[in-house]
Amino acid sequence: MTVTGAVPPGKLGRTLPHEHVLTDFVGADRSGPHRYRREEVVEVMLPRLQEIAAQGVRSFVDCTPMYLGRDVRLLQELSRRTGLQILTNTGQYKEPFLPESTFRISAEELAQGWIGEMERGIDGTDVRPGFIKTAVPPGALAAVQRKVIEAAAITSGRTGLTIATHMEDGEPVEEILAVLEHRGVAPQRWILVHAHNLGSAAAMAQLAERGVWISLDGVRRESEREFLRLALDLLEAGAEKRLLLSQDAGWYNVGEERGGQQVPYTFLFAGFLPRLREAGVPEATLRHLTEANPGEAFALP
Ligand SMILES: [Zn+2]
Repeated sequence: MTVTGAVPPGKLGRTLPHEHVLTDFVGADRSGPHRYRREEVVEVMLPRLQEIAAQGVRSFVDCTPMYLGRDVRLLQELSRRTGLQILTNTGQYKEPFLPESTFRISAEELAQGWIGEMERGIDGTDVRPGFIKTAVPPGALAAVQRKVIEAAAITSGRTGLTIATHMEDGEPVEEILAVLEHRGVAPQRWILVHAHNLGSAAAMAQLAERGVWISLDGVRRESEREFLRLALDLLEAGAEKRLLLSQDAGWYNVGEERGGQQVPYTFLFAGFLPRLREAGVPEATLRHLTEANPGEAFALP
């Protein structure tokens, strides 16, 4: 489900499964489109997106959740002007970026709001979410974070949307998988975002074997060697069908002059894939990682 409507998973094409157009870390009760000029954001970010369209990228997954600068009107305009298929999300981030209401209401009530976005559209538009974005801090799950994961599981169960969870270490993994299982959500419907934070390729490979999507989404020039090692180890371990590659790049940072300094979205295809190729990874595997896998990970059953 893209911001301009449903697309068959096979038509996603070359995809960046974890990037950001805009983020605003000011806090849940203060964030909103009044904090920036949308025309300026378009002016700054349009050329960045045109660069990847020129690389043959067809789809772009925007991972900025609500209360952190999600702006579906902005994404729609950028999609129309670049031809890129852009996915947005429902769900919520983690403390301290949760609104006060999240602490008061139940997981079921929280999920109702997110399911409503799938049924009626986001922020008064007809734009629907393409996945559920959540986040947890390191360590065991606090009560409110467990509630957010439960709400995500309920939403996934009723809408079919895949859940993507920002993770900072491996400690909450089993607890999250248990919540999902309890609600009948298969590991195949869960993307472990920033999986590289788990450190060990062996741990990631084991999760991949259980069906979890392993998102190595911090691929940058400065981290190239670490990611090359991880990706090769995972491919060696047979995780080809569960691996996602992206950069967590961008973005217009609200509050800074013209959004501050952006990281281009081009490195994965211009810099990193050529390294994998040199290391002997076949072309068909590279295509699988960058096209078939995102198509399957974000597919609605
Ligand atoms: Zn991110």
